[in-house]
Amino acid sequence: MSEPTKTISCRNCGIEIPTKTFTETLKVCPHCGYHHYMSAYERLDLIVDADSFEEYDAHLYSIDSLEFPEYPQKLERDVAKTGLRSEMLSGIAEIGGYPTAIAIGDVGFIGGTCGSVIGEKVTRCIERALENKLPLVIVSVSGGMRMQEGTLALMQMAKTAAACAEYAKAGIFYISVVTDPTFGGATASYTSLGDVIIAEPGARIGFAGPLAVASLREELPENFQKAESLLEHGFIDAIVHRADMRQMLTDLIDFAS
Ligand SMILES: [Zn+2]
Repeated sequence: MSEPTKTISCRNCGIEIPTKTFTETLKVCPHCGYHHYMSAYERLDLIVDADSFEEYDAHLYSIDSLEFPEYPQKLERDVAKTGLRSEMLSGIAEIGGYPTAIAIGDVGFIGGTCGSVIGEKVTRCIERALENKLPLVIVSVSGGMRMQEGTLALMQMAKTAAACAEYAKAGIFYISVVTDPTFGGATASYTSLGDVIIAEPGARIGFAGPLAVASLREELPENFQKAESLLEHGFIDAIVHRADMRQMLTDLIDFAS
């Protein structure tokens, strides 16, 4: 007797998808096109050339400077869950043969919230790109700033934005890739400062989350904070399917070189 096919349920349309198909489609629902969660390592495989990634700053990790309840346990849990020491993977890799400074967030690590380590890693990644005159790709995903780190988290907005400004002055090329969900301080700093900003289909991008905004307005417009609406309003430059992301990045870097 053959074993039953293993399936996963689409988070958007609820249709069952065979696990094998789910892997083959890069975790995109074949029925509704919903782009499901990908880890930082999965995204790395998706967009950089094989065996070209050299990681930097892997040793950086958050400390519990505010003695926030249960924060150390949550950090420990997510280190084990994601294989990362912080919410971001960064280094230098080749994309279509072009050496590129890259940083990739992981929403599986404390909700991808932006704390002192993500700010430091993003800043160092930008500075590394500047020093080596490399194009820069940052893949954002963020549940907002990390409340467990208070002001130390909030100041990362100014720090990363200042690094982006220095990079822009040098006339090199920063591509910001925005994935679902990206909210809060990331949106208000490095995520929005790319020379080109591209998003995955359906990605939710905003400052305050939809629940907070809904509490101030009676009705929210259709596609509120979705990539499709943000493209229409000029906040992003393009929507790119996950399967086409590496080629799009290669073409853009090639164009700017
Ligand atoms: Zn679906």
